[in-house]
Amino acid sequence: MAAALFGWIALVFVLERLFAAEAPPTDNGTRIARNVGLGVIAMTAAPLLLWLTGRISTGFSPIIPLAALGAAGALIVQLLILDIWTYAMHRAYHRVPLLWRFHAPHHLDEHLDASSAFRFHLGEILISAAARLIPALIFGIGPATLLLFEAILTANAVFHHSNIRLPARFERALSWIVVTPAIHWRHHHALRADTDSNYTAILSIWDRLFGSANPRPRELGMAIGVEGERERSFAGLLAYPFR
Ligand SMILES: [Zn+2]
Repeated sequence: MAAALFGWIALVFVLERLFAAEAPPTDNGTRIARNVGLGVIAMTAAPLLLWLTGRISTGFSPIIPLAALGAAGALIVQLLILDIWTYAMHRAYHRVPLLWRFHAPHHLDEHLDASSAFRFHLGEILISAAARLIPALIFGIGPATLLLFEAILTANAVFHHSNIRLPARFERALSWIVVTPAIHWRHHHALRADTDSNYTAILSIWDRLFGSANPRPRELGMAIGVEGERERSFAGLLAYPFR
C-alpha cells in the first residue's frame, strides 16, 4: 500500500509539472520547501497516532457493532463514516475560531500543488487524530481501517490540491464522485465566502448533501490564500495559532 501511495504522489507531482493549469509562482522552490517542512513536522505525530490506533484495537469494544454487515460491508461503512467525520471536522475548523487558528496555516499557501496536501500544522494533525477516536470507538474502527482511510485520504488530497490541467468534461464527470482540483481550489480561493464551502475530502456527495457545495468550479487566475492575510515564513506558520 505504501509503495502504491508513493508511486501515486510521484505521478501527480510529475503530471502537474507536465500539464500545469496555473503557472507556478517565481518563489515556488521556497514554497514547496515550506510545505514539505510543515509536513515533516506533522509526521512527528505518527507515533502518537499509532499509539492511539493501537489503544482502539485493544481493550475497547464498539458501542455500535457492525459485524452483522460482514467484513467487507463493515469496512465500507467504516470508511464512509470516517469520510463524513473528516468533512464535519473540516467544517468545524472553519467555524470555530480556536480551530481555525490551527487550520489557517494550510490555507495561507498562495499557490496549490501536491505539496499543499502535506502542509498542515502539527496542532491540526494532533487535534484531528484525537477527535477521530470518537467515531473509532463508537463503530469499532481498528488500526488497519484507520491506516487504509489515511492512505485513501492522502491519495485524494494530493490529487485535489494538485495543479494538473484535466480535460474539463472528464473533470466535471469525476467531480460527481470524488473531490477534484476544480472543487478544492475553490475552497482555497482568497474570498471568505468561497473558503467556507467545499469541505469534503474524498467523496464529493457530502457537500451536496449538507448544503456546503459551491456551484462554481475553480477559475484560472483566481487568488489563492486567506482573504485579507498574507503568506507567512516557516517560523511564522508554526507560531500562527499562538499569536
Ligand atoms: Zn479548509
